[in-house]
Amino acid sequence: MAGMWRNWEAAQKIALRFVLLYIVISISWVLISDWLLQDYLQNANWISTAKGWLFILLSGLLYYKLIQRMTKDTIENEANYRLIVENVSDLIVVADRDGHIKYASPSHEILLGYESEEYEGKKLYDFIQMEDNSEIQGWFQNEIMAKKEIKVEYYLKSKEGNQVLVEGKVVPVASENGTVEKMVLLAHDITKRKQFEKQLIESEERYRKLVEYSPETIFIHIDGKIVYVNNAGMRLAGVQHIEEVMGKNILDFVVPEDLEYAKNQIRKVEEMGETKLHDYQITRIDGTRLFVEALAFQTTYQENKAVQVIIRDITERKRAEERVRYLAYYDSLTGLPNRNFLFDYLNELLIAIKKDKQPIAVMFLDLDRFKMINDTLGHSYGDFLLQQVASRLKECLPKDSMIARYGGDEYVIVLQEKQLEAISRLSDRIIDKLAEPFFLRDRQMFISPSIGISMYPKNGDAAERLIKNADAAMYLAKEKGKNNYQFYTSSLNDRNSSKLELENGLRNAIKKHEFTLFYQPQIDLNTNKIIGLEALLRWKHPKYGFVSPAEFIPIAEETGLIVSIGKWALETACNQHKQWKEKGFSPMSIAVNVSALQFRHKDFVKTIEQIISNTKCRAGYLELEMTESVMQHLGETTTIMNELKEIGVNLSIDDFGTGYSSLNYLRHFPIDTLKIDKSFVDEINNGKNGEIIVKTIIDLGNSLGFQVIAEGVENEQQASFLRQNNCHVGQGYFLSKPLPADQIEILFSLA
Ligand code: C2E
Ligand code: MG
Ligand code: MG
Repeated sequence: MAGMWRNWEAAQKIALRFVLLYIVISISWVLISDWLLQDYLQNANWISTAKGWLFILLSGLLYYKLIQRMTKDTIENEANYRLIVENVSDLIVVADRDGHIKYASPSHEILLGYESEEYEGKKLYDFIQMEDNSEIQGWFQNEIMAKKEIKVEYYLKSKEGNQVLVEGKVVPVASENGTVEKMVLLAHDITKRKQFEKQLIESEERYRKLVEYSPETIFIHIDGKIVYVNNAGMRLAGVQHIEEVMGKNILDFVVPEDLEYAKNQIRKVEEMGETKLHDYQITRIDGTRLFVEALAFQTTYQENKAVQVIIRDITERKRAEERVRYLAYYDSLTGLPNRNFLFDYLNELLIAIKKDKQPIAVMFLDLDRFKMINDTLGHSYGDFLLQQVASRLKECLPKDSMIARYGGDEYVIVLQEKQLEAISRLSDRIIDKLAEPFFLRDRQMFISPSIGISMYPKNGDAAERLIKNADAAMYLAKEKGKNNYQFYTSSLNDRNSSKLELENGLRNAIKKHEFTLFYQPQIDLNTNKIIGLEALLRWKHPKYGFVSPAEFIPIAEETGLIVSIGKWALETACNQHKQWKEKGFSPMSIAVNVSALQFRHKDFVKTIEQIISNTKCRAGYLELEMTESVMQHLGETTTIMNELKEIGVNLSIDDFGTGYSSLNYLRHFPIDTLKIDKSFVDEINNGKNGEIIVKTIIDLGNSLGFQVIAEGVENEQQASFLRQNNCHVGQGYFLSKPLPADQIEILFSLA
């Protein structure tokens, strides 16, 4: 390597020392030589000669020491500089004024991979990665010559062709006469730092975008005051401009109920550095409330201690949860609590009142004949009725009571009332309230309830038992003619188990020949002659004796056993008809009751055909009685009825007037007979407006060409009213009770 760069300042210092020394020695020499010379000339003896030599010796020694010291300093300085220059990781390059490299520190080798020799004859610019070398070079030269220090940040080319980014300065070095002789490049590798800075910028950008475009609300607050909010946060708050939220206190957005809770959470973040997810309700600028979940943690914002909060809008989820909860605990039709709610409520209430055994009452309310309305008028009417009943019931109940929809047309009411008279009064009020007509569209409907009541703790100490017993009491109310209330008594339990026994007995009743048919004559009211018979099922239970069809037919319908039992009744009636014919009695029509379930059974028409062909009973003598409930499916019913008419059987509508079927409906069906329900016939001669209804039905039936039969005729007044109003056939205890076949034969023989 060519020369060694020396520190100009150090060199100046050394030179200055030499100059000073020279001046001192020279002055001393002049003075001393003057003194010595005079002394020698005056006293030229050996003492003065010795003095002269001593002085020369001493001054020579002193001079030598000084020179030695200065040389040592210079060498030490140079060694120190060399040590530093050769060991720093920074790059030090000395070039002459034209840029020819004279020296490059060893760090060059590590940084760029060149051997020292490779710099020989090269210029500083050769190693700099520049688009246009010459232009830069010119500018460089000018600046350096003007003794300006130049800050540089350049890519240097490594031997392997990589780029090494360095940052530093080029310092001009002037000679004693002030002209720039050299330049020194002092630089350090900033490739890694730059990469790191770039990564930092990138990651900062990434983070910023992540925060800005996050679908979750992110905001930062310092001491509760909002200092940053992202786009989602503005949407959440319902604002257009960021100024509308900046600087606001976060607690301004929290609903009053959650305020204390929110303050606690803020305190927690301050103490513990973070909080877990918590639910709050917040208010938007427009006042609407939102459910959110939030988590917060400490952070630094613009060098201040701050809190970052992440918020997620969970309003939709909360609503869905509420809906699910609602569906689980409320009845969607009436809005009343459902069975689940009832059990939870009752269980909790029972725990609360257990200590002082404070009595409560459970009412089980079932709507009478609801199924009929639902089946005949359709579900929209049924649903409307259930809703209206629910709201009327609510109106009747005291504040501390609870009402739930238990099932189809069943409601359960829990009363915190111990006085039986008060409960009775309430039951009467409910019955009266429900007795008022219900109106939907152009239709008027009537409904009545049967209510069963059980008392805590007398009739049970658990929710299930109390409801079960109230239900049993409700059945008693049904049996007692419906539209009334009954308190539970322990004997009702036996009743329930007997219902189960009936169900079991019913399954084997046909096989065990426990069924018989009774026949009730249908009498011509003008001639008093029997014109037909209605077959009525009788079940002789081995334990209970004769069981009323009113009791077992609903069980047979519930269990589906009615299909086989009904078939048995049809076969038996047709066989009986054949036997009477064979015995020589003049044949007459036999009416057999058919349940809706049986009527809609897929094999029903085929079964009728088979029975007729097996028993050889002429189809024209068989009349099928069905209630209005079969009419709910207009199309299906018409098809079945037409098929039956093709076979030749007659069709009759039983209990007419109770099923809310539209009178106009009747025109659509191939019906032969209309049977006026007993409840209307009962109204004849008792001063109520039932007579008008009976008259209307008779007129309608006659005008449509139906035979009209009045059911349940119990006295002469009724019979004569019917006669006078053109109803010519009657059936009832006044005319004849249902009788076994052998007794009917006696009647036949008397005729
Ligand atoms: P329904 O078809 O309306 O039969 C008339 C009911 O009124 C009979 O009751 C009959 O005994 C009763 N009755 C007749 N005249 C009078 C009267 O003057 N006063 C009073 N208080 N009652 C009278 P029963 O035999 O107890 O039958 C009740 C219901 O059971 C029948 O009402 C019918 O709907 C059903 N039923 C009877 N047998 C059968 C059957 O074989 N199949 C089906 N599906 N249902 C049947
Ligand atoms: Mg009947
Ligand atoms: Mg009837």
